[in-house]
Amino acid sequence: MNNIEFEILLNSYLKSNNIIDNSLNGIQIGGNNKINKIITGVSITIKLIKKSILLKCNTIIVHHGLLWKNNILSNFNKLIISKLLKNNINLYVWHIPLDIHPKIGNNIILSKKLNLQINILPNQNNPFIICKNNKNNKLINKIKKIFKIFIFYKTKKKINRICLCCGKGDNFIETTIIKYNIDTYITGEISELNFNIIIKYNINLIILGHEKSEIYGIEKLSKVIKKKFNIKTYNYITKKKLLNFIIMD
Ligand SMILES: [Zn+2]
Repeated sequence: MNNIEFEILLNSYLKSNNIIDNSLNGIQIGGNNKINKIITGVSITIKLIKKSILLKCNTIIVHHGLLWKNNILSNFNKLIISKLLKNNINLYVWHIPLDIHPKIGNNIILSKKLNLQINILPNQNNPFIICKNNKNNKLINKIKKIFKIFIFYKTKKKINRICLCCGKGDNFIETTIIKYNIDTYITGEISELNFNIIIKYNINLIILGHEKSEIYGIEKLSKVIKKKFNIKTYNYITKKKLLNFIIMD
């Protein structure tokens, strides 16, 4: 398949043309006119490029790419870009479209894996899910099983009304506490300063790790491409050493 044709098809499937995003979604590096095999991953890294060369894939699709609004290209980017072009590899990126998609988005898949009851779906302005924890749902056990390592800032409040925001959840903590009266915030990462909001409202906080909270969207996209377009795909997950989970009181 032609690489521009592929971009149009994927933009349409992910409805990304209507989504405002910091990331430049779609094709970022046009390294090859024809797509043979595809490798997907959460972020563009040298390791992922090496893997694509090894598997003879001329196309990489990631959630976190190179071109962001207000970002300048650095020497590190130069290394990545030159490696991609030298090896005739395409780079495609879909960021927010892969967070908020109602079927294959990071938030929807993770909330289903955690057996949460979905109340409000994510959208462009609110790229998070508001959900409810079922009484008999052993949520922490489920998180422990999937993530192995995570941070649990635990209060005396029962985990009931949850905001799940995969990736960087900084921008929505206070608004979701006030608007949806949540008692638990689950996210990939938050900055130190925003931790004060958690303390101020005394809610539970569960931090899963940015990359790990976003592995499902891209993995599902890989499967969709294989099925819909009959292109061979691989999905790459960074292997990191896992420790036990941490509870803070
Ligand atoms: Zn992210």
